[in-house]
Amino acid sequence: MQSERPIVGAIEAGGTKFVVAVGSGPDEELLARAQFPTGDDPQKLLSEVIAWLLEAERKHGKLAAVGVASFGPVDLDRSSPTYGFITTTPKRGWKNTDIVGPFRAAFPKRPIGFDTDVNGAALGEGRWGAARGIEGCGVEGVGLEDFVYVTVGTGIGGGGVVRGKLMHGLVHPEMGHIPMPVLEDDRFRGACAIHGRCWEGLCAGPAIEARAGKPAAELAADDPTWDLTARYMAHAFATLTYVLSPRRIIFGGSVRKGGKLGEAAFFAKTRTHLLDALAGYIDSPLLTPTGVEHYLVPPLLGDDAGVCGAIALAHDAWRDELRAKSNND
Ligand code: ZN
Repeated sequence: MQSERPIVGAIEAGGTKFVVAVGSGPDEELLARAQFPTGDDPQKLLSEVIAWLLEAERKHGKLAAVGVASFGPVDLDRSSPTYGFITTTPKRGWKNTDIVGPFRAAFPKRPIGFDTDVNGAALGEGRWGAARGIEGCGVEGVGLEDFVYVTVGTGIGGGGVVRGKLMHGLVHPEMGHIPMPVLEDDRFRGACAIHGRCWEGLCAGPAIEARAGKPAAELAADDPTWDLTARYMAHAFATLTYVLSPRRIIFGGSVRKGGKLGEAAFFAKTRTHLLDALAGYIDSPLLTPTGVEHYLVPPLLGDDAGVCGAIALAHDAWRDELRAKSNND
């Protein structure tokens, strides 16, 4: 009998780097991994990535499937002629790039899972990470069916899981671009090239750097930018809470580490502001001063959430194909 979780190839295609791995899950199940700078020549990079995967396959055995979790926007519509493409990205060299096709050609007859990087990370956290149950808050031992994964780094993206399924809809969610209120006469005009003061334009790494004059990682603990950023984050999390009613929000990405303030203090601040923003309106034990630490949480897979997500996408594609085959028999 075949393993429930076979060895697969995984590609976390980020705007700065590609993380490539072979394995069947996180930690010791991640058998090999490598990193490549994204650069501006997709053909060259994709052939390097494929060569690495083929070499890893010779060492670790045949890959059952491949998962690609990509920066976007991407075309996820299977009936579209550009399914599997990165579409309108402003990233140099990458506009209208077929990112799935080269893997399909290199790994014939193997299913290729494909989704956005943040949807992939949401899936990974759901399977192995912070959306698993946490003891003592009523959801022991089972994965949560409804949660949101948000990453705040060079941009902001969010993946929503509803009844155990990733949300896709019309295109895919673009949570990072929700409009935001103006807080405390804030004069900062925002850093999003499209909207100025959207969530990404106020809270992503480049926005923090534009506001404070230095990168988030180097920002002093008492810099007022931290409190303002936490307030804006809280408003966005309140919006997600009202709209999607998630059972947990996982807040990942480099900005969550809070620079010199530190991750624990930045989370504490953001949780307090989240309760203020919600003003007691939602009646749940998770939205109280003691419960909120189980509601707004860091990712358990840490910086591996993305590549584990790509493994999860590959497993799902493999399982879907098995199911389709057994239905045809
Ligand atoms: Zn925007």
